[in-house]
Amino acid sequence: MKLIFATHNANKTAEIQQLLGDDFELLSLEDLSYHQDIPETANTLEGNSKIKADVVYDYFNLPCFADDTGLEVESLGGEPGVYSARYAGEEKNAQKNMDLLLNKLEGINNRRARFRTVITYKTKAGIHQFEGIVEGEIIDRKIGDYGFGYDPIFKPKGLDITFAQMSTEQKNQYSHRARAFEKLKAFLKKT
Ligand code: IMP
Repeated sequence: MKLIFATHNANKTAEIQQLLGDDFELLSLEDLSYHQDIPETANTLEGNSKIKADVVYDYFNLPCFADDTGLEVESLGGEPGVYSARYAGEEKNAQKNMDLLLNKLEGINNRRARFRTVITYKTKAGIHQFEGIVEGEIIDRKIGDYGFGYDPIFKPKGLDITFAQMSTEQKNQYSHRARAFEKLKAFLKKT
């Protein structure tokens, strides 16, 4: 089955293709020569993933899905949340984002945080949303070289290493994104 993934990111497409398996053939927006940026103007993950799925579905009229992820820190009222990519500014610099978060958490004891991914799947029958969460905490410095984004400062609950110290395979056993996509996969298999 062919499915459109509303992203321009080839690496993300390859990662999700691997998670969904060979029964599905993912087409990214680049594969379809759709080069426009889709503005993410909502203030929730649910809203932004729906905006992307709506725009792409309206354009191609084919089954498609979009995802949106945020890091939610309890003592900061869920910040950076939907603004995770651009927390420290529009340049979307991961080091600066982590530095800002570490500064804001200085002296705060409650370091609980979670990554949350929301997927919106849209077909002519309507939309379905799927959520994946990994609970953990923000440590007080950056550790590890793998991964991206906030991985060096996020330690999943029950483990003593950060996401940035894990291989991709290991991270996929815990990650918010993998959990959300497992739900989408289960749904697609029964429909
Ligand atoms: P996106 O919705 O997948 O583009 O994610 C938005 C932002 O959340 C990214 O730019 C990262 O800053 C952060 N993020 C998402 N997933 C991860 C992850 O697995 N590890 C670390 N940071 C992440």
